[in-house]
Amino acid sequence: MKFINNKLRIENAIIQNIAQRYNTPAYCYSYKQLKDNVNHFKKNFSSISPLICFAIKSNTNINLIKEIKKFGLGADVVSMGELMIALKAGINPKKIVFSGVGKTSKEINYAIDNKILLINAESKSEIKEIEKIAKIKKTQVQVGIRLNPNTDAKTLNQISTGKKENKFGVNDKIFYELVEYCKNSKNITLKCLSVHIGSQILDYKPYEKMLKVIGNVIKKAKFNFEYIDLGGGMGISYEKNTKKLNYKKYNLAIKKFLKGRKSKIIFEPGRSIIGNTAVLISKIIYIKRNNVKNFVIIDAAMNDLMRPALYGAVHQILPAIKKNKKSKRAYEFVGPICESTDKFTTIKNFQEVNEKDIIVIRDVGAYGMSLSSNYNLRPKPIEILIKGSKIKVIKKRQKHKDII
Ligand SMILES: *Cc1c(COP(=O)(O)O)cnc(C)c1O
Repeated sequence: MKFINNKLRIENAIIQNIAQRYNTPAYCYSYKQLKDNVNHFKKNFSSISPLICFAIKSNTNINLIKEIKKFGLGADVVSMGELMIALKAGINPKKIVFSGVGKTSKEINYAIDNKILLINAESKSEIKEIEKIAKIKKTQVQVGIRLNPNTDAKTLNQISTGKKENKFGVNDKIFYELVEYCKNSKNITLKCLSVHIGSQILDYKPYEKMLKVIGNVIKKAKFNFEYIDLGGGMGISYEKNTKKLNYKKYNLAIKKFLKGRKSKIIFEPGRSIIGNTAVLISKIIYIKRNNVKNFVIIDAAMNDLMRPALYGAVHQILPAIKKNKKSKRAYEFVGPICESTDKFTTIKNFQEVNEKDIIVIRDVGAYGMSLSSNYNLRPKPIEILIKGSKIKVIKKRQKHKDII
């Protein structure tokens, strides 16, 4: 994404023109950025040749999942719907893992019937439920057990998942019990130890700590795991000058962990693959000034992009057309929804804007559209994929008649 002659572009497409042609709000993705992200991810871990399972929940657009499939990635799913869309996109079931604390028997049945690589169980009750269903089907099911390593991921509390107070996984004591249980089961084959300590992680040290915990647990469990699923969580730069995750150090820690072991590593990245591939294009409806603030009311809202309202996440905002005028202002960018949390961000030095100007909210590829809703009975936005000069609608804008 860059300005050429003051016009913001994604690849060769000019944002202002896309806004005019397709209307706003609109999610707009870059194919090249997606490809670069996948290649970077693969390169960073090439020395351990992992299985990379894209976390579908970060973006559920089938056309994007199809592109991701073409790059050779598998999928990490957390519901029957996500498993269905991964299969429909053509992802090989032997590259699909199923995570989540509350898989229903219907979901487990479906996963078993589709012979996916792993069901990563998160409780004693779930292991028993999987065993019961497998027994009825007279089959053997490959499972993983998700360990809660009690490791602080040093990220936002709302997206931390690996501490003992979080609902995810099982503690070491139950983990050992479940290993013994699986050893004695005719219908369950234990293949994997899985973890996932949180999202938007920028410090490699929590990962290092997590690997130490896993190493100790494996030693105590005296079990050879064919797979070690390290989850996802790799952070991206939402703000200028934030630190970047040191992939080299993470990779080194994994290599050290793997010494003397034969396990294959699985990753479940979502955000690091899709996060920075998209912008949300929006038009300024009104500008409203009071004694303390300049509110810029845009036509995108928390139903289109919930991260700021849900986690206090910050996304950068850029104008579609850079003005040469020097005057800058402080603006609070808000949506039209009747909630005070329907607010994107405050920027102190933004170029002076006018009503009907086009702006973009950056880095919305992950947990953007996938978290969107019809709150306030607002139709969901269109999704567009840019590939060089080609512009493709990958999901149509919802119409009022679709939701009323
Ligand atoms: C959400 C989730 C992921 C993906 O996390 P990112 O931060 O998007 O990489 C991976 N694994 C599990 C189990 C998850 O719940």
